[in-house]
Amino acid sequence: MYNNGWRWTFHLGFVQYRLPSAVSGPLRSFFGWAGNLLYPADCRVCSTPLVTFSRVPVCHLCLAESHPFEAEIFCKQCRTPFISRAPLDEEGCCSLCRLGLRGFDAAYSSGEYAGALRKLIHLFKYQAIYSLEKTLVDRLSDSLPRDQHYDLLTPVPMHWWRRLSRGRNHAEILARGLGRRTGIRFAEPLFRKKLTPSQAKVSRAERRRNVQGVFAVRRPVSVRGKRILLVDDVLTTGSTAGACAAALKKAGAAHVAVITIARVDRRDWVEPFVTDRGSKAATAS
Ligand SMILES: [Zn+2]
Ligand SMILES: [Zn+2]
Repeated sequence: MYNNGWRWTFHLGFVQYRLPSAVSGPLRSFFGWAGNLLYPADCRVCSTPLVTFSRVPVCHLCLAESHPFEAEIFCKQCRTPFISRAPLDEEGCCSLCRLGLRGFDAAYSSGEYAGALRKLIHLFKYQAIYSLEKTLVDRLSDSLPRDQHYDLLTPVPMHWWRRLSRGRNHAEILARGLGRRTGIRFAEPLFRKKLTPSQAKVSRAERRRNVQGVFAVRRPVSVRGKRILLVDDVLTTGSTAGACAAALKKAGAAHVAVITIARVDRRDWVEPFVTDRGSKAATAS
């Protein structure tokens, strides 16, 4: 019975997810801990039996597993990896950065969206295992460049309706955690004007279209001249982060860097690049 994954999934989901939001902090942690005590479980990533009591239902090996994002050729600004140097100019910038269409000035992530890291993000985001927050904030904090200064950090915002139905914005949890860890001020100047369809399994062009004009800044004076760190869980094409950064820049932000736990390696995707007018369209392959 104890090794039955379905039972554990049901148990933890029921106890943690259905708790009212007023039940937070130590009390919420207690329920996670008590759940594990009552229902010893398998690691939710690799399925080996958990041998220590913890409110995190993942073994220490999976928590520590690291998938560095490896690429020999990448844009020096947005750090998008490429399989050849063709899309890069002499200074090492991709076409989107060169044309100023990327939106953000820099991008950092702790690893590739694969393996254990991908599963940890899924557990946190879709199965409400919020006890993973510390691990994920550690990853964000470790990938933050130490030689840069930021005035404030902000999450990619969720539309109020989606936020109401999901209960939480996972990017906000991560941004608040990173703010506490680093001392960088947390703020929410951005809001999402429209409810957009899910960005999963959508081409880069569609993603870009979906988020055009979707984000706006409440009080432009709050971001004017500021260096801002935009926090999200995963960077896929960068369209959503780019649209947020563009709104912040339009409101007067001086610099916007994106930080995510993981980044999707899209080098296998074949789709047209944005090019200068009149020049030939190239493809990613
Ligand atoms: Zn494991
Ligand atoms: Zn670039």
